[in-house]
Parts: sequence; structure tokens; C-alpha cells
Amino acid sequence: MCINYICTECGKKYDPKTLVFRCDCGGLFNLEKPDLKFSNEDILNNEWSLFRYIKTLPFNNDFDLWKDITMGEGLTPIVPLEKKNPNLLVKVDYSMPTLSFKDRGAAVLIAKAKELGVNKVIQDSSGNAGTSIAAYASRAGIECDIYVPEGTSSKKIKQISSHGANVHIVKGTREDTASAALNAVENGEGFYASHVYNPFFYEGTKTYAYEIYEQLGGEMPQAVVIPVGNGTLLLGCYYGFKELFNLGLIEKIPKIIAVQAEDCAPIYKAFNEGKQSVNEVTNAGTLAEGIAIAKPMRGKQILEAVRATKGEIITAPENKIIETRKYLAEKGFYVEPTTAATFAGFFNYYNENNHKLTGKILLPLCGAGLKKD
Ligand SMILES: *Cc1c(COP(=O)(O)O)cnc(C)c1O
Ligand SMILES: [Zn+2]
Repeated sequence: MCINYICTECGKKYDPKTLVFRCDCGGLFNLEKPDLKFSNEDILNNEWSLFRYIKTLPFNNDFDLWKDITMGEGLTPIVPLEKKNPNLLVKVDYSMPTLSFKDRGAAVLIAKAKELGVNKVIQDSSGNAGTSIAAYASRAGIECDIYVPEGTSSKKIKQISSHGANVHIVKGTREDTASAALNAVENGEGFYASHVYNPFFYEGTKTYAYEIYEQLGGEMPQAVVIPVGNGTLLLGCYYGFKELFNLGLIEKIPKIIAVQAEDCAPIYKAFNEGKQSVNEVTNAGTLAEGIAIAKPMRGKQILEAVRATKGEIITAPENKIIETRKYLAEKGFYVEPTTAATFAGFFNYYNENNHKLTGKILLPLCGAGLKKD
């Protein structure tokens, strides 16, 4: 399969074998892939992980290194949140090897890194993406350096270092952490396994959409609600929907309702001001650390994706996050605050717009409660 990196700014193409992480012009990469051929018969019915959709993933037909790397990630349950509303569905995406949805992206990205012959990866994260990359890198026998901002949950840091990764705690903002990792990459210290820069990560998160399609028997929800910081789940899900639509497997792309934290909402702001790109804001200290991204690098793409689905961007009220976390626990789901924020934002919106939402609505449970005190 001929796959290229293609610059989102100037269109220049690169072979992934070059291991570059962004264009000479500074632009981020998308993937350019051959036209996808896929039907229900191509699902590997005996493979109980997201690699059952291997035909849609960016690997050659004879590629089987993923078999040594998968830990059964994906195929997470879809169930109603509560009996009284059978149309309000949750996808239990913290049922993953490292307890967050980031395993979708990490499994595919690390399999690709292995194929490219990489022996060391570098990554920066507010916690969960770092944990996923550390776990999969270790399983694949790849050395790993993870950069996290100071203030990252000590449990997440322990989880990362338990996989043998070198953890670098960086003073300052999330953006300072990203700069530190970038410096290391530019000094030639390793392959940038970034969930923000590396488009192979999104090939993994797109399986979220394929699973919805398969598990709901092709009857797609009217809307999916997705937390958004850097947009790894949102963009992946959108790419998946678009592929399913282009393949003629679904008739309509579900509306994407994206949720940002009230105290750190740059994409929400740009969306509502009708802008095409996102300006940096200051994180006023949101409890939703997993979506506290003041300067989202793929902001422009996120705006385009949400608008293309006629979706919306809403915010989660900070003062509702803790009580929503309790509410979800009452329903049996113990989640981290960022996940509670997604629901807090949605409930707020739903109560005001009840009449507009009639079909199925699906929300993800992205991160497990044990990750955070
Ligand atoms: C990563 C993460 C998010 C947000 O994902 P983005 O890629 O930043 O949009 C939301 N919730 C949890 C639990 C996460 O780990
Ligand atoms: Zn470019």
C-alpha cells in the first residue's frame, strides 16, 4: 500500500520512512492513502480487538507484526447509561488495557513505528496518551521517553514509569511540555510518537466509528458527543464516519457535538465566532485536565470536521464536573473528571435542547476513575 504524509498547509508529500514529523513549512501531516475497499465481509470476525478492521488500517496485506503488539484494545461495550432513556448510549472506552481510549491510537501508531524500524519513541501528554504509548512501546520492545507537565496525576506518572518509560516532568504549561518533547525530537533523540502530530494515531482512533457501525448494526446514532482537547478521538471518529459514508455503508454522518472545558475553550470560542482557525487561550485552571489544551494544533481541522457534520461545540460547566462524576458512579461507571466533564456539558445542552435530539445519542466513557484521586 502506498501511503504518504501530506502537509495540511502546502500539500507537500513525504514518505513515512523518512521519519519526519512535520513539513519543512511547519505544517502538520495528514495521510494520503489509496481508495479504501471494505465491506462487512472484510471484518476479521475471530479477531477480538480493533485489528478486526485491519483492512481499513494503513498496513500492507502481508503485515502481521500487529499480532505481537495488540492487547485486545477496542471492541468496547455500548450500553444505555440508564434504563429510563434507552436512546442515551455510552461506549465504555475506558475498558482498555491502559484504561483510556488512547490505546486505540497507540496500538496502531506503535505497530507502524515497529514496521518503520523505529527503536526509540518520544511523546508528550497530559497523562493518558503517554501511558498508552509507554505500554505499547514496551510491549513492542521500543525504548520510550514521555514528557508530562508538572501537576499531572501521580497515578498516571506511576503508570507510565511502570512500563519502563523515562518520564520527564516539565515545569510550566502543557505547551511548555510539548516544546520540551519537540526539542528532544529535533535533537535526533527518537521518533515523535505524538498523538497530535502523527497521523497514524488517528487511524487507530477511527476504529471508534467502525465499532459504532458494527455494534449498532449500521443504525448510526443521530449524534455523537465527544470531548475535545487536541481532537484525537474527534478527528479519528470523523475520519471513520467519512470512510463508512464514502463506502456507502452508512447513509448519513452523525452530528458531532464536541465538548470543551469552560475554563479552557479555544475551539468553542473560534466555532462560535465563526472563525476558520483557533487562537490560543489561557487555561484558567479547569478540572478537566485531559482536555485542557490552550493551543490545539489541529484546531482548524476540528472546526472543519464539526461544521461538516452540522454539529456543535459546547462547554462543560466547571461547577458541575464533580457532581456529574458522582452521578456516573451511581450508574456504575467510575470515571476520571475529564470524562465527567463531557457528560456535564452534554446534560446542560440536552436539558436546554431536549426537543432537538430525538434519535440515539452516544457518549464515550474515555478515562477510568482510578487514574485520578
Ligand atoms: C485524551 C483524552 C481526552 C481528549 O482527547 P483529545 O485528543 O485531547 O481531544 C478526553 N478524555 C480523556 C480521558 C483523555 O484521555
Ligand atoms: Zn508544508
